Amino acid sequence: MPQTPGRADCDQIELESRPSKRTKHSSMRSIDWRGLARAFVFFWYFSAVTHVLLFFSGATGFLPLRQGFVFSLLWLVPLLLFPNRARPISAAIGVVLGLGALINLGYFSIYGQEFSQSVLFIVFESNPAEASEYVDQYLKWWMFPGLIAFCAGAYRLWRGIRPLAMAPAGRYLTIAVILAGLFLQPTYKVLRKRGLDPAKYLEAIGNRMEPAVPWQFVIGYARYREQLAGMEALREHTERIPPIENLIDQRAGQPGTIVLLIGESTSRLHMSLYGYGRPTTPKLEALRDQLTIFDQVYAARPYTIEALQQILTFADQQNPDLYLTRPSLMSIMKQAGYRTYWITNQQTLTKRNTMLTNFSEQMDEQVYLNHQRSQNSYSFDSNVLEPLQNILKDGAERRFIVVHLLGTHMRYKYRFPPEFAVFRDGSGLPEWASSEHAEMIDEYDNAVRYNDHVVSSVIGSLAAADKASLLVYFSDHGEDVYDTPPHDFIGRNEAKPTPPMYAVPFFLWTSPQWRGEAPGDLAAARSRPYQLSHFIHTWADLTGLRFAGYEPDKSLINPAFREREILVGNPADQKSLLDLRQLLKPPAATRP
Ligand SMILES: [Zn+2]
Repeated sequence: MPQTPGRADCDQIELESRPSKRTKHSSMRSIDWRGLARAFVFFWYFSAVTHVLLFFSGATGFLPLRQGFVFSLLWLVPLLLFPNRARPISAAIGVVLGLGALINLGYFSIYGQEFSQSVLFIVFESNPAEASEYVDQYLKWWMFPGLIAFCAGAYRLWRGIRPLAMAPAGRYLTIAVILAGLFLQPTYKVLRKRGLDPAKYLEAIGNRMEPAVPWQFVIGYARYREQLAGMEALREHTERIPPIENLIDQRAGQPGTIVLLIGESTSRLHMSLYGYGRPTTPKLEALRDQLTIFDQVYAARPYTIEALQQILTFADQQNPDLYLTRPSLMSIMKQAGYRTYWITNQQTLTKRNTMLTNFSEQMDEQVYLNHQRSQNSYSFDSNVLEPLQNILKDGAERRFIVVHLLGTHMRYKYRFPPEFAVFRDGSGLPEWASSEHAEMIDEYDNAVRYNDHVVSSVIGSLAAADKASLLVYFSDHGEDVYDTPPHDFIGRNEAKPTPPMYAVPFFLWTSPQWRGEAPGDLAAARSRPYQLSHFIHTWADLTGLRFAGYEPDKSLINPAFREREILVGNPADQKSLLDLRQLLKPPAATRP
């Protein structure tokens, strides 16, 4: 019977894998370390090249490199199952990994960032013509030799792969060790933390695998679909909210550019503008005469989404669901005839940020600047300046621009470029700051100093535009950077509130041409205790708008202002809400 050529090929491979009957026994070791190592290096190569570049360019931390390394082990499993077919199997896997790696490398060489699900969002949402313009603009000659070198490297590593000379016991043991190493620890961790919840489990495993090629595409796409469904539901809901009733615009027909600059995790207790000991805000201090500074303003909640959900809508701690039924500040501005813009340096499409993206979609134009997968990545806030300056030149008469910064969000060391690392070695910090704490406080203060640069540059851009302009700046919430005795906590925790988590900067800047409503006695308003959840009422006074639901006694700058409780805590549990003013009282004297 004639043999088919395919069958003959297979036999050849079989023969290659068994050099001779005589040496067979000695070569079938329990574990073929060299063979495994060569195959592993080949698989890892496709993740490692991008991760090493990302790490050394400072775009990401060490974690993606580590996860890429760990999850490259997974590809050894098919080789261990079919040791004689090591070369064709690894070639097939290599083609898939190689394509993924090329997308990652291409993206890195253009943007200097890690590919993420937010990129998929941008890709699918922007039109194909725009996308091809990008490619034209960024395609550089050196990318071709780079591509050839990368493929040559992969080919060379693949040439080193040979059939694994391992006895079955050794192969199955190795498979067991690899799978246990990859999945046992995360399984244990998830089970211990969340119990038996398959969705949470998949999510946790997904988070670990995502940095390794090609999982970021698989997981990224799944997440993109999931977010899209959530966003679609939210969008439909928002579209059904009726417009605001009884809208009166006291500035109707007057030109003006109104900027709402939203900071992130910046506590006023770390700003020298508010009396902090280190010079963290020199540029804003130089502008002090032009600012109206309020020094008793507190966040609604210590988390971005929850805070902004109240700040930008009628919702507050006692009526937390009003954002679902009443129009937002953005839609009111649009209804008042402003051209509306949303510039953000926050991540666009993470699970948490769906609400923010929904807010941004209520505007006429959006500029999304941060496509990083991880919050712990560099995306400096100065990125907002160029799009802002472009908008200021677009000829619109009346504009409302929201600029959402990444501010001083954790990890602080990712929030400022090296030239802003002015605070070092804990110099000038109080005695309680141990060296480990001092490092974090230094990083936070450097981030505050960089934020000072960004905020003052935004004001500078508005001043240079030389038009009637108003800017309002506040941070969504604060941050406790070991500030509260016994100085052992960093971050925010709604269950254990401390004043630094809520104490935010709040100030106004207006250009000389701005003619707004004379908002009463501003000097008297400066030290009023005020919670940002009622901001929409202050906004009405600032912009000269009147509408159904406006309450002058909830406006910080209105003569009718009435001091209220600063309610902190989760509004889903109304009984747990606490008046922050109780924590602000100086502690009872303990000295004899
Ligand atoms: Zn925040």
